[in-house]
Amino acid sequence: MNLSWETLELHTAQPFGIARWTHSSYPRTFVTLEDRGFVGRGEAAPNAFYGETRGTVEAVLPLLAGALEDPWDWDGLNARLSARMPQGHPSARCALEMAALEWCAQAAGVPVWRLLGLSPTALPHSSYTVSLAELPEMRRQAREAVAAGHTVLKVKLGTPYDEQIVTALREEAPSAALRVDANAAWSRSQARRMLDVLDDARVELLEQPLAAADLDGHAGLRAVSRVPVVADESLHHVRDVVELARAFDGVNLKLAKLGGPLQALAALRLARAHGLSVMMGCMIESSLGIAAAAHLAGLCDWADLDGALLLADDPFAGLNWTAGELQRPTAPGWGVTRT
Ligand SMILES: [Mg+2]
Repeated sequence: MNLSWETLELHTAQPFGIARWTHSSYPRTFVTLEDRGFVGRGEAAPNAFYGETRGTVEAVLPLLAGALEDPWDWDGLNARLSARMPQGHPSARCALEMAALEWCAQAAGVPVWRLLGLSPTALPHSSYTVSLAELPEMRRQAREAVAAGHTVLKVKLGTPYDEQIVTALREEAPSAALRVDANAAWSRSQARRMLDVLDDARVELLEQPLAAADLDGHAGLRAVSRVPVVADESLHHVRDVVELARAFDGVNLKLAKLGGPLQALAALRLARAHGLSVMMGCMIESSLGIAAAAHLAGLCDWADLDGALLLADDPFAGLNWTAGELQRPTAPGWGVTRT
């Protein structure tokens, strides 16, 4: 077994802003597992909010690599990774989980979704993100997205002018489904004031309005909101789903924060058991990471998988997109190729 990795700086076509930051450069570490003539690949998309950087990913991969000794034992992979590193490092673990799964799928000659026993099914339409900026710039992004055929927009909020943003974007995209994401930036009172604005603008869902740890605040908000409230930053680990069920209507699952596709599947099962709706989300990541999420997205109610569409230098190709309509890959493995 040979495991190697390289980190590339990926760049968004436009600066990408959320409530906490604006960046245009993203280090992504690509893992390759080669064994007996087959290759498996994975991507680590570290996020400082979840305690990771390029440096932590590169430092931890050599410590975790031995867990892939027998890729066919992917069912026991999480236990082997946890034995080497009890907690944290979810995007590094995601890259390894992805590599193991693709290696097995390549060896079996099937797409990963089939390796996982899933049925072929249509994916929910993905949203396209309008990133946080001055209002005229957000209007421009929305106009261009609609012109490009996107019918679902996810609007980043967390400014003193959020009400104007929602009203303006509803004007720019009168028939689009609008979702909003405050990225934990609102106070409880701000969130209460926004509920009528969101309802008037026919917003489809509200993602992470309050601080990650404020479950009571989210529970109170959800009790009076006609718009479903969805957890993102409040969900770090699979086991969090159980407690989140009292405070949210749904959860946003991202492979990079949960530790990979198998962990996301575990979170999805727990979410369904607790009556939660499910979004398959992503970081800014290449078509490799997005492909992995797409293999699971058919199980979800909502998809937010535009991370690679925002890139100027995506190192992978092969995802089949028309605006927000993403087809589940059908080639063996993840179904994307290095460009
Ligand atoms: Mg979010």
